[in-house]
Amino acid sequence: MGKIRIYNLAKELDKDSKELLDILDDLGIEVSSHMSTITDETAELVKAMYKEDDETAVEEITETETETAEEIKETENAEESDTEEVEVLDAVEIETPITVKEFAEKIDKQANNIIVELMNLGVMANVNQNLDEETLELLADELGIKIKLMSEEEEIKSMRIGPEIEDKAEDLEARPPIVTVMGHVDHGKTTLLDVIRKSRVAVAGSEAGGITQHIGAYQAEIDDKKITFIDTPGHEAFTAMRARGAQLTDIAILVVAADDGIMPQTEEAINHAKAAGIPIIVAINKIDKVNAQPERVKQELTEYGLVPEDWGGNTICVNVSALQETNIDELLEMIILVSEMEELKANPKRLAEGVVIEAELDKGRGPVATVLVKNGTLQVGETLLAGLTCGRVRAMFDEFGENIEKAGPSTAVEVLGLNDVPNAGDFVQVLEDEKKAKNVAAERQAEKRQQEIKQDAKVSLEDLYKQI
Ligand code: GDP
Ligand code: MG
Repeated sequence: MGKIRIYNLAKELDKDSKELLDILDDLGIEVSSHMSTITDETAELVKAMYKEDDETAVEEITETETETAEEIKETENAEESDTEEVEVLDAVEIETPITVKEFAEKIDKQANNIIVELMNLGVMANVNQNLDEETLELLADELGIKIKLMSEEEEIKSMRIGPEIEDKAEDLEARPPIVTVMGHVDHGKTTLLDVIRKSRVAVAGSEAGGITQHIGAYQAEIDDKKITFIDTPGHEAFTAMRARGAQLTDIAILVVAADDGIMPQTEEAINHAKAAGIPIIVAINKIDKVNAQPERVKQELTEYGLVPEDWGGNTICVNVSALQETNIDELLEMIILVSEMEELKANPKRLAEGVVIEAELDKGRGPVATVLVKNGTLQVGETLLAGLTCGRVRAMFDEFGENIEKAGPSTAVEVLGLNDVPNAGDFVQVLEDEKKAKNVAAERQAEKRQQEIKQDAKVSLEDLYKQI
């Protein structure tokens, strides 16, 4: 059965993809975004609805076609479940340890009902008892809910102080996509990032001469549109991010060497991107090589549910040679295309929030953190809370080593002024209240020490048993 991306169908019909999403919703077909695909059969149904001239006719068809829609809905939804890892994102976050009572509250159920469910599972528990992870998983299965377990330590670092602020629609502005390059070792990630950096980074001021510092990220430009590339070792940053439930990137570029095909880290990268629910663009690299077999790579991709567009699927693949700089612009254009479909927006007027992508202790400058601003604008002088540490932003530098005062959404900046070195992946937030930032950082540090003590105690007890 053929498939079509909703975005493409909307284009074909010259309609807004939001409108199509509404129609699909009316038909009871679950789709997550206009990047999702629907079967040709469903597409025909949608097209048929538009063939009628006036609105009422459309409604009539909705009525008469409901039965077909019912059937289609079943196939569509069955296919959706292939991407189960993606669905984990909608799961209820459970911070462990958690008691029966707390769990019940979290999922809006009576504690008594949970106790009964537990009894059905052969577990006798009272309301104040802690549930272990295995029991939580079983329980979730039994209740038909999805949960995502977060250990206390992970939670400490990802914690946002205060509620998540919803941005008003009128404050939102388009922002550049944040892109990570992933793939197996030696498939050409570094070469690709270097060639993009070399050829596509806008020269900021003549004196900088286009020489970029290594700050873990840079912005490339194509047709006046910006793309933020993360060039820290992709996997580490990505894994750290995911562990904290935060989303670092918007689009993943999967580099696959055409002479080697899909390898273990390629598969890992695919799983990461799928779990994060972000679109994947495949750069089939090293096509200059005599033994390059791009078609074989495409074949292999289908086995991972990534069906190339020219094979009737919706995965964008670009044949490139990073070494010979072939098709690099095409790849960048595809990134822009996908980012436009994603309608990435941020509110530059709010206090900044972001993520640490790299951090180190510099002999002369003290703790230096590269922060990727995800929303808001970060400014010199503001108070930053970053994981277990905080501090007043003393100075900021861009990828050219230039002093800057402000950093807007999707930009990475080197930040000076934190009291300590945060970890890559730490959530970063500007707080108006410096005292509060200090208190929160102190609390988090105390909590972490507490955990380490607990851990140590456990280990020494185990050692003791071993000796007996
Ligand atoms: P990474 O481990 O994924 O970062 O891979 P690298 O960028 O370090 O590349 C590994 C090797 O492949 C290096 O020797 C590169 O010169 C080479 N390489 C990268 N891209 C290409 C390409 O497009 N064609 C050819 N022939 N070699 C490439
Ligand atoms: Mg490399």
